Amino acid sequence: MSDLRVRFAPSPTGYLHIGGARTALFNYLLARKEQGTYVLRIEDTDVERSTQESVDAILDAMNWLGLSCDEGPFYQSDRFDLYRQKVQQLLDNGLAYRCYCSAAELDARREKALKEGRKPKYDGSCRQRADQPDAPYVVRFKLPDPDGEISFADRIKGVITVRNEELDDLIIQRTDGTPTYNFVVVIDDAEMGINLVVRGDDHINNTPRQIHLYRALGYDVPEFAHVPMILGDDKKRLSKRHGATSVMAYQEQGYLPEAMINYLVRLGWSHGDEEIFSMDELIAKFSIAAVGRSAGVFNPDKLLWLNAHYIKSGDPVRLAELLVPFLQQRGIDPASGPDLVSVVKGLQERSVTLVQMAEGATFYYAENLEFDEKTRNKFLVEDNRNLFRELMTAFDACNDYDAASLERTLNAVMEKLGLKFGKLAQPLRAALTGGAPSPGIYELLEVLGKDRVIARIQSALKQLN
Ligand code: GLU
Repeated sequence: MSDLRVRFAPSPTGYLHIGGARTALFNYLLARKEQGTYVLRIEDTDVERSTQESVDAILDAMNWLGLSCDEGPFYQSDRFDLYRQKVQQLLDNGLAYRCYCSAAELDARREKALKEGRKPKYDGSCRQRADQPDAPYVVRFKLPDPDGEISFADRIKGVITVRNEELDDLIIQRTDGTPTYNFVVVIDDAEMGINLVVRGDDHINNTPRQIHLYRALGYDVPEFAHVPMILGDDKKRLSKRHGATSVMAYQEQGYLPEAMINYLVRLGWSHGDEEIFSMDELIAKFSIAAVGRSAGVFNPDKLLWLNAHYIKSGDPVRLAELLVPFLQQRGIDPASGPDLVSVVKGLQERSVTLVQMAEGATFYYAENLEFDEKTRNKFLVEDNRNLFRELMTAFDACNDYDAASLERTLNAVMEKLGLKFGKLAQPLRAALTGGAPSPGIYELLEVLGKDRVIARIQSALKQLN
């Protein structure tokens, strides 16, 4: 075990976004690689915007991706007492103060500053205030050393320096008594012993303020690694315009978690020109040093390509399990038809998603096979009556019904009717599939099984034009 402690700290104000999932993955991989600890913390201090539904959605997505945490999930909403104590600690030490400025006053000052070409920031009016009027107030952190600066060496972005005069006295407690993000994130990361904070670079501007808070609260400052954001192919920030941004939307579209993991990791990290990584390989190979400084570009085609790869090479037994809900969505009960694992084996080569695989599996389970127009007109014709009758009789007499006997059976029918293989196989395939894409005729016959084959030929006979 190393002493590396990392965390993922989502705010439950919506589904788990692609970017969030990547942050979680990077943290998870680092912890696994170094045998450190991966903590999950739900940042639900914003009571108005946090919902249980989002918490569940985030946990489901983490579960689907297989990113199980070593500690947690912790909920900030369980920790308000601690935060209140820390506010008090800063007040007692003279490092924070009550600010009674109203929203209207702040707006007016802000406008004035903008008009005068100054950077609008809190002017510190309440810093020296000695009275405590009976009025709503926020608590602000007293930014130290206005002439100084703050520097940190980001593990991805390099050294970042910000002059303190760029910052202002941060609100750490709102008028309703709830603490704010920048304050609680520091307390939690410190109290949970986090020594490397890996997160999206949308938080990089918060980091200098947070470092001031670490110091004021007497905590050690962790290391930081800010991961570049994810862009769409038009180089704009990834949004719904570029496709689904919710991780679970991809599950619903029939993507495999290993494809998603493999895809996410490459959004910003690389290892030579390798593209395919199993989780174990990632744990061995991942490093922050190989995370690039520039934004990753979201490429849905690549995700699809990876998904096709993992479907093609996947274990059919597992794929069959994953396929069940997709079949059920189509009203199919897989127990009612041929062995699902055998069906899956015939579809792996040709399916890029589980949705597509379920579509491809549908004809196997159809009670009343639907024929497409072309197939019906071409094959359900009087000319084939004799062929279908002969096939039915022949299959009926075929007791072993294995690969060898099926081949003998078809050969005998071909010989008897003087037909070439194509003239027999095409109508037969049509009768068995309704025209849906399918594997080779022998595989099809075996997977469907004798009874189903005979029933389908019989049904085709009834529908001849
Ligand atoms: N809760 C914050 C968010 O979801 C992340 C905080 C952090 O990683 O420091 O954006």
